[in-house]
Amino acid sequence: MESPIRVRFAPSPTGDLHIGTSRTALFNWLFARRYHGQVVLRVEDTDKTRSTKEYEQSIIESLKWLGIDWDEGPDIGGEHGPYRQSERLNTYKYYWKRLLKSNHAYYCFCTPEELEEERRSALESSRMPMYGGKCRELSDTEREKRRLSGQKGVIRFKVERDDPYEIKFKDLIKENINISSEVIGDFIIVKADNMPTYNFAAAVDDITMGISHVLRGEDHITNTARQTMIYDALETPIPMFGHFSMILGTDKAKLSKRHGATSIEEYKRKGYLSETIINYLSLLSWSPGDESEIFDIEELVKKFSIERVSKSPAIFDLPKLDWLNGQWIRRIPVERLTLLIEPYLTAAGIDTEDHNVQKISEAIRTSITTLAEAPGYAKIFFGDPEISDDTLKELREEPSIKVLSLFRDRINEADKLDCDSIKELIKGVAGDLKEDGIKGKAVYHPIRLALTGLDSGPELFSVIDGLGQKRTLSRLDKAIG
Ligand code: GLU
Repeated sequence: MESPIRVRFAPSPTGDLHIGTSRTALFNWLFARRYHGQVVLRVEDTDKTRSTKEYEQSIIESLKWLGIDWDEGPDIGGEHGPYRQSERLNTYKYYWKRLLKSNHAYYCFCTPEELEEERRSALESSRMPMYGGKCRELSDTEREKRRLSGQKGVIRFKVERDDPYEIKFKDLIKENINISSEVIGDFIIVKADNMPTYNFAAAVDDITMGISHVLRGEDHITNTARQTMIYDALETPIPMFGHFSMILGTDKAKLSKRHGATSIEEYKRKGYLSETIINYLSLLSWSPGDESEIFDIEELVKKFSIERVSKSPAIFDLPKLDWLNGQWIRRIPVERLTLLIEPYLTAAGIDTEDHNVQKISEAIRTSITTLAEAPGYAKIFFGDPEISDDTLKELREEPSIKVLSLFRDRINEADKLDCDSIKELIKGVAGDLKEDGIKGKAVYHPIRLALTGLDSGPELFSVIDGLGQKRTLSRLDKAIG
C-alpha cells in the first residue's frame, strides 16, 4: 500500500545550504524513508532579488553530497510540478482570485509612507504595530478605479477581527500551539510585483502538492498560524505540523557566522566527511534513547523517530564535530579515504606519482581530524626528511648507529614487506638488541628519526609500509651516512 506520508523540504536559494536547513532536510528525509513515504524538493524562489540559480545548484549539490535524495523536484520533475515557485504563478493566481472572491482577501493601496506612519504611532503609544485595515473598507468601485488608474497595490489576507479566535494546531514536537488571531494583522499574500509572499505560496504549494506533514524550524511557528488561516479559508484539510527547536552555539546564542562555518559547503571544503555531517546533524535535538551516537545514514533510517526529537534547543559544538570526524575517518574503507585525501595532497602541491597513497592514508588516518590536515601528516612520505646536523650526529653514535645498522640489514634482507611482516621485523630487531641492553625508546626513536626526522607521528610499521622498501632503505642509508 502506498504510504500516506509526503514531506517536503523547501529551501530558498538565497545562500548555500545552511546547517539548520540541512538538519530540517535530514529529519524530513529520515521520517519519510522510515515510513516509506515520499520526499518533495521545492525551491522557494519568489524573492527575485535574492534568489539565484547558482545557489539552487549549490543547495542541490550539498544535499546530494550528504546522501539526501528526493522523489520529486525541479531537477527530476514529478506529478505535482513545477517545483520552483517562480514557475507556479498561474497556480497562485488561481488561488488568490478564489480568496478575493470569497472575501478572504482584498486589495490594499496604502503607500509605504502611510504604513510607516501607522507603525510609528503604534510604537509611540506602546501598541503592537499591525496593519489597521484601512483598505478593507474600500468599495468595489473605488478599488477598480485605483487599479485602472495604474496604482499597483498588494493583496492582503483578511484576518477575522470582529470575532477574534484561537488558531490551534497540533505539533508533533512542541506542545500543541494556540495563537490568538488578535496578534496577527492582515498580512500580504501578493506583492505589488504580482509575486506571492512566502506564506501564501508555501500554503498553496503544500495543498496542491498533497503534503501530509510539514516539519520545519520553530522560527516558522507564526507562519504556521498564518498558513492554517489560508487552509481554512480555502476549505482544505490542514496537514500535521512539527517544529524543530533552534540550533544554538555553545554560548546559547542563535547559530550564526560568529560561531564559525554555517554552510555545509564550507564543512565539506574543510575536510569533514558526509558521514560525519549526517551523523552530527542527526544528534542536533534527536537521540536514539541510549548511549550510542555513531550511526550511518542507513542505521538512522531504522532508528529515527519523530517522538524522540527534543523540544529543547540543540547546541552546535565544534569540538564534538571534530571528534566525530576523527571517528569516521578511522571507520570508512581505506579505498574511500584515499580517494578523499588525494585532492587535498594535490592542492598542497604534493606529487603523489610513484607513491602508494592508500598506504599513506592508512598510516595517517589515526592522526588526522579533518582531510585538510592530511598534507601536513602525509608530508613525511614525500621528498627527504629534514634532519638537523645535531640529530644526524646523534644517530651516528652508539647505541643509535647499532640499531639503525641492524634494522637496515633486516629491511634489506626482507623479501616481503607488509604491515604484519614489518611488525615482526621490528619485534625481531628489538629482541636481538635486548642482548646488548638496548630496549624501548632507544630502539624505536632512532628509527623514527631516521625515517621521518620527527619525534612522533603515525605508527612506525605504517610509516615503513607507506614508504615501501626502497625509500625506507634509502632514508636509513642517508641517516647512517
Ligand atoms: N523557504 C523557507 C526557508 O528556507 C522554508 C520554510 C518552510 O519550510 O515552509 O526557511
